Amino acid sequence: MGGIDTFHRVFQPLLFHTLRVNPTIPELQQAFADHAHELAAFVLEPLVQGAAGILLQPPGFLREARALCHSHGVLLVADEVATGFGRTGTMFACDQEGVTPDLLTLAKGLSGGYLPVAATMATDEVFRQFLGLPEERLTFFHGHSFGGNALGCAAALASLDLFQREQTLASLPPKIAALRARLSAKIASLPHVFEIRQKGLMVGIELRRSDSRPYSPEEAVGARVCRIVRRHGVILRPLGSVVVLMPPLSVTTDQIDRLVDATAAAITEATSHPLPAPALPPSPSPHPTTAAAPLRGIFLVGTDTGVGKTTVAVGLLTLARARGLAPVPFKPVETGASPDPDDALRLRSAAGRDALPREIICPYAFSPPVAPALAAEQASTRLTLDGIISAARRAAALGDFLLVESAGGVLSPYSENLTTADLAAALGLPVLLVARNALGTINHAALAIAELHRRHLPLTGVLFVDTTPLCTPDRPHNSRFVRALTGVRILGTLPFLPVPTPDGVAAALRLNVDVDLLLPRLR
Ligand SMILES: *Cc1c(COP(=O)(O)O)cnc(C)c1O
Repeated sequence: MGGIDTFHRVFQPLLFHTLRVNPTIPELQQAFADHAHELAAFVLEPLVQGAAGILLQPPGFLREARALCHSHGVLLVADEVATGFGRTGTMFACDQEGVTPDLLTLAKGLSGGYLPVAATMATDEVFRQFLGLPEERLTFFHGHSFGGNALGCAAALASLDLFQREQTLASLPPKIAALRARLSAKIASLPHVFEIRQKGLMVGIELRRSDSRPYSPEEAVGARVCRIVRRHGVILRPLGSVVVLMPPLSVTTDQIDRLVDATAAAITEATSHPLPAPALPPSPSPHPTTAAAPLRGIFLVGTDTGVGKTTVAVGLLTLARARGLAPVPFKPVETGASPDPDDALRLRSAAGRDALPREIICPYAFSPPVAPALAAEQASTRLTLDGIISAARRAAALGDFLLVESAGGVLSPYSENLTTADLAAALGLPVLLVARNALGTINHAALAIAELHRRHLPLTGVLFVDTTPLCTPDRPHNSRFVRALTGVRILGTLPFLPVPTPDGVAAALRLNVDVDLLLPRLR
């Protein structure tokens, strides 16, 4: 019955005919006047359309729908999956207009969200249509394996118990009022806030440009807010350019204040530079070797070895290809090659450049798992700046975006007087610092940033990587401290992925990291 092209296009020929109305009373009346004879049911989310963007219906709309359905013999189906169980301030949204639907769908709040359980309620009149002798074949056969799941039902009963014991509904009005007051004090007047729509503990904050033009989907302004607000310890979900607040009903007024303040700060930050800046233009390098044409690309450096740089690089290469770029990876040196430089081969494959000779992507591969300078020494080779830079330019010429993965950290040595930082300076590419999100990272990241700043290298930001599934107590806070100590932009955190496939990493980066600052958009 929905109308979302992405979801429905393929199935269009199989679907039955649906008529859609905008939520205004005159349009609803007109639709019934024109079509009542061919309508089976009118389906709506009462009072608020949730996933559509927290859209509020005018007062009386639901009551009018009930009356029209009643007088034309059309079933009224209320989808209260989102609005049910106190979300709008009453047990059901339908209560607010004194309406009883013929069918009522329930899920999310039924178990407080803790276990998956859903229910469809019907009036006796509807229910009776399915009663009869077996040979009458009136049975409602639509069922599924886990219908009536006992554990789900136990969770639902426990949640309903809490409703009674804690007097949940009675506790809501002051919370709803506090939320309204705080939104109005802290958010309503922000220049990019177009409208705040609130029903109970359900809020949509619609963002527009300061001249009221809507943001384009590509700008993903809601997603930017949600990414930033995590740094304040708050998890939100966007619906396009609408930021949604749906705190649990047990929220306290202190928590409401914190939620709104964090949201206000995140909106302010996300809208202060209007568009995600495209990848920074390469800054001119002082080094004579690169006085030639500037390169386009990015230079990845770690806070340490083993921080997830290669995984990040694989994801960025995959995203770059999806944006229509022809990225070329370049890993000047790989040590611990046994015998193949596996990381470089992963990069080559993620870039879709398996046909390129390995030496283009990774000119130097050594088997001892030691720093590049030592590995070269033991192989009686000497790595030089000119040698590496000309190899980088050779690789760059084969595509339109060079992704350099350096070895180890900022001062990892390629020879006794050549470090990663020297390579970054000579290439003049924007630098991305990849940090392992673990105890110790604040110091490592701050030191690395201090050195990058000292050398005036163009640092785009810091990307944290959860390199293990274990969430240590420091983890949620590391990025905040790095930001505070260094002032450098935090681009996000790549969550731990047990099997980091290129597409999986790319999807996780897109969701969790401000990739627009790293990769240019062609379209
Ligand atoms: C989440 C949601 C659904 C989906 O419910 P399921 O039980 O997962 O099928 C349906 N309707 C509304 C209004 C929802 O918000």
